[in-house]
Amino acid sequence: MSRGRSTEAELALHGGRPVRDRLLPYGRQWIDEEDIRAVVGVLRSDWITTGPMVARFEEAFAEYVGARYAVSFSSGTAALHGAAHAAGLSPGDEAITTPLTFCPTANCVLYQGARPVFADVCRDTLTLDPGAIRRHVSPRTKAILPMDYGGQPCDLAEIRALAEQNGLLVIEDACHALGATYQGSKVGSLSHMTVFSFHPVKHVTTGEGGMVTTSDPELRRRLQLFRNHGIDGDGRQRQAEGKWWYEMSALGYNYRLSDIASALGLSQLRKMQYSLSRRREIASRYTAALGALEEVETPMVRPDCESAWHLYVVRLNLERLRVGRGQVVQALRAENIGASVHYTPVPWHPYYQRLGYTKGHWPNAEGAYERIVSLPLFPAMRDKDIEDVILACTKVIHAYRK
Ligand SMILES: *Cc1c(COP(=O)(O)O)cnc(C)c1O
Repeated sequence: MSRGRSTEAELALHGGRPVRDRLLPYGRQWIDEEDIRAVVGVLRSDWITTGPMVARFEEAFAEYVGARYAVSFSSGTAALHGAAHAAGLSPGDEAITTPLTFCPTANCVLYQGARPVFADVCRDTLTLDPGAIRRHVSPRTKAILPMDYGGQPCDLAEIRALAEQNGLLVIEDACHALGATYQGSKVGSLSHMTVFSFHPVKHVTTGEGGMVTTSDPELRRRLQLFRNHGIDGDGRQRQAEGKWWYEMSALGYNYRLSDIASALGLSQLRKMQYSLSRRREIASRYTAALGALEEVETPMVRPDCESAWHLYVVRLNLERLRVGRGQVVQALRAENIGASVHYTPVPWHPYYQRLGYTKGHWPNAEGAYERIVSLPLFPAMRDKDIEDVILACTKVIHAYRK
């Protein structure tokens, strides 16, 4: 790293030369020729939706996470909706969740006419704090909806114990955490239902898609009904059995994943091992380089967990900087580093404010929000990309340090 040339240089935000010429996004898909062949194969086959690939993808996915069943959906958000329905959430019920998440984690509770109750996160991991959950349990509570922030599993043993004591279901939003482990077990096998997303920035992509894993046959049945209009079985099964007749027994949606998407997912799943190890490698290179800066706090992973590293989130030590987090993100973007912020606390959004939620109840989550910056992290990043991120961070921090 030619420190004199680059890190002392004028920030691109102030008219200097950017660290790189093209924007490096914070996340993006990684598609190879095998994936493309898998999709083309389905396009040439008899079934392009709800054919044999859906079941194959579900089986392979359940096996990968160590759950008995996996039920696919058209998006992670649809999968959350399905899980909230299967949990029986309805008007008058409450579900306890985290403010520091992508809004669908809480929205799925609203879809069911129930009320999300936000509890604070742990200061170190930014995942739901079991002590805070306990303080919010009421006679109306039906479910706990934790989220594995950044790819690090939440405190699953304690959350599970709390759920058992109070007769609650755990719906774990693991959209960040495919491949993560908690006390030696894979995420996806540890909660009543675990939800995954296959959006292009996630570990496995199907374009749009999602999955719920469970080991409970009754939850599985409800999930399957919900994603298919509340109708048992599907057109292909009926064709195979020579049946024309069907019954709708619940109000469901069309939230099915197609065979085209499932073939892509199945092919993507085969590359998880490389994808995870590349994410871990990038994270450890960031930590080695940025840990040296006093203005930056690098992410921690608890010793009984392996993070899946969906995000690499640093926290700025604002006492040592002349500017706020917003300007640091702007400056990184001007250097063509797609820094981002995950997330604006959900109850701060105008829609939630109109529902009557107010700010200031979650000091850890709201305090972290003012400091967090997500750096680019995805397996297709080249070594040069990693160096650019480190160079740009160092440049921006040097320029704004007190
Ligand atoms: C990506 C994501 C979702 C939603 O997934 P979609 O597939 O985009 O609908 C939900 N929760 C979290 C935490 C996510 O990161």
